[in-house]
Amino acid sequence: MIRTRFAPSPTGYLHIGGVRTALFSWLYAKKMGGEFTLRIEDTDLERSTQESVDAILEGMAWLGLDYDKGPFYQTQCFDRYKAVVQQLLDEGKAYYCYASPEELDEMREQQKARGEKPRYDGRYRDFTGTPPEGIKPVIRFKNPLEGDVVIDDLVKGQVIINNRELDDLIIARSDGTPTYNLTVVVDDWDMKMTHVIRGDDHLNNTPRQINLYKALGAEVPKFAHIPMVLGADGSRLSKRHGAVSVLQFKEEGFLPEALLNYLVRLGWSHGDQEVFSIDEMVQYFDLDSVNSSPSTFDMDKLLWINQQHIQAAPAEHLARYLSPFLGQKEIDLTQGPELAKVADLLRDRAKTLVEMADASVYFYQDFSEFEEGAAKKHLRPVAEEALALVQQKFADLADWQTENIHQAIQAAADELEVGMGKVGMPLRVAITGGGQSPSIDATAELIGQQRCLARISMALD
Ligand code: GLU
Repeated sequence: MIRTRFAPSPTGYLHIGGVRTALFSWLYAKKMGGEFTLRIEDTDLERSTQESVDAILEGMAWLGLDYDKGPFYQTQCFDRYKAVVQQLLDEGKAYYCYASPEELDEMREQQKARGEKPRYDGRYRDFTGTPPEGIKPVIRFKNPLEGDVVIDDLVKGQVIINNRELDDLIIARSDGTPTYNLTVVVDDWDMKMTHVIRGDDHLNNTPRQINLYKALGAEVPKFAHIPMVLGADGSRLSKRHGAVSVLQFKEEGFLPEALLNYLVRLGWSHGDQEVFSIDEMVQYFDLDSVNSSPSTFDMDKLLWINQQHIQAAPAEHLARYLSPFLGQKEIDLTQGPELAKVADLLRDRAKTLVEMADASVYFYQDFSEFEEGAAKKHLRPVAEEALALVQQKFADLADWQTENIHQAIQAAADELEVGMGKVGMPLRVAITGGGQSPSIDATAELIGQQRCLARISMALD
């Protein structure tokens, strides 16, 4: 069975680059009928925070990236890592390194002076003497000295590294805590991961990790290293470029499926299709079609994709995601039409749920003032006659629905011998408070007859 995982370190917010990695792993597992695991890599005790763990869990839940296993926490597996480190020590595959930070600095300076690349030179690899006083040693893995490590990366292609380029990796810090390169291998081995899909910032670690797998007698998983997401200026995407935390996109009114759709297209393509449902993503996704070069984040395109999903979503679904935004505005949804109907009416004009929420207010809340510019242009005194007439026709309507409302407006315009707009615009300002709304008859229907009449009275007052 195919097994993939997402293994974030909880040291900050959940970055959308990370989400894309999670998405690719999730999609691949789903597509292959496999299993997807969430593993929180929290062994860096100084930098890991509960807040960040919560943000990861909340982000995954919002996006619907469900996991078959987990969340697992590496801090709960310290005993296992210690046992593996001990095993490597016992088998002569790892050793204590007593080099002090000053000694290592000096070593690097000398290497630089000789024009060499600074790297740990293995000075304690075969050390058998008396350990120096006052130094708490780290534990290093004995990387093979000869031969090549071959990575048949599913995205990058074949990558070959000579062992001479790799130094002896620290697998346990001087306080005894295991390092990332050790824990990731132990967990991926224990959890029987078949595919390690992750950002290509880890590609440098992979040959060392492969050597560790081999030293442990573990089966080496397949690797797929996904290129970074860059900002428009070509540098790695960061806060400087605007929103990068997944929860910020939630707050800014993106639908989760739209964000996933946008992210899947960052570095993956299926012909020239741009808009995908989740089911289509699962159906078509393949690691073979993941691009090996970086992709650039483009906010305009994300907005466009969001708009496409807003237009295509079932009204109830839209309403479910829209509702919290109205809650934030302290709008009481019992004081107006069914939210799904409002969402259905507004969906063509909004790029985000925030815009939609802003446009929903007059369906639920009365107002005491009209937008100044719109009122000057379309209300009194210009439209007094038109408004009074349409008010009368509205009052007479027995069946308050779009078609009848439309006819009433048309009849008022005909009687006054003016175009529809001369009645429709004043009416729009009167019943919505401003000059922008979806088609006025459908809007009026949802606002309701009594409320429309009251608002027209207010405009005439
Ligand atoms: N914990 C690592 C990170 O957040 C990812 C490890 C991996 O996927 O192998 O960068």
